Amino acid sequence: MKPPRKSTLKSPAALPPAGMPDPVPAAPKRSRVAKKPLHGTAEAPRRARRMNAQQAAAFVRALAAANPAPETELDFSSPYTLLVAVALSAQATDVSVNKATATLFPAADTPEKMVALGEEGVAGHIRRIGLWKSKAKNVVALSRLLIERHASEVPADRAALEALPGVGRKTANVVLNVAFGEEAMAVDTHIFRLGNRTGLAPGRTPRAVEDALMQRVPAELLRDAHHWLILHGRYICKARAPECWHCVARELCNYGDKVLWPPAR
Ligand code: SF4
Repeated sequence: MKPPRKSTLKSPAALPPAGMPDPVPAAPKRSRVAKKPLHGTAEAPRRARRMNAQQAAAFVRALAAANPAPETELDFSSPYTLLVAVALSAQATDVSVNKATATLFPAADTPEKMVALGEEGVAGHIRRIGLWKSKAKNVVALSRLLIERHASEVPADRAALEALPGVGRKTANVVLNVAFGEEAMAVDTHIFRLGNRTGLAPGRTPRAVEDALMQRVPAELLRDAHHWLILHGRYICKARAPECWHCVARELCNYGDKVLWPPAR
């Protein structure tokens, strides 16, 4: 078993309730009265001119060079605990999920133990995170299906993963990438915003952004690209106000309203 890794793969603002498909931010709605947020949102990101292929590759390389070994933030110790942690992370922070799983996983780190714990037992550990009721139900249900259909193993297969309760394309991409090393791009709220705002991979839906990134990210960087992009979106290219003044990819970015100075304190 690989040593525990952490995953950054969560998007509290955009993830759907457990049991629902993975996030599909709605296409921007036009309104005569609503004012646009200053720098766009995940649901209505401001778009920039599309980067050319060389520019896109250089953009990702700049992020990679600045953080050669991207750290991830969800705690897990196996494909199964990764799957559960990602399922719990919908509309919750990694910190809150890690607090919940710090007591849940010692009690149940296999599908059999989770089923034995039952919905009430699981709920007792995760009550502090959003949508805990449906998440407890889904975690027990997916554990039962793993036992019945997959000999208690997490399948390294997209269709089989997406057939599990509470698992959609984004969660499947996380598991395929992090647990099984596949070149999969889990587009969360940060990557969706980043792809549109910078011109790296413009698209009206997460799937369109995912497809564009799979085409444009250099092959040797695909394995870790979603980590770099999520971290960049979470900590530098933030939703409300990107911190362009210390962005390593600033010269490559096509965003028209870069914030070149930190706010005065
Ligand atoms: S320059 Fe600004 S908008 Fe462009 S990627 Fe960097 S932080 Fe984001």
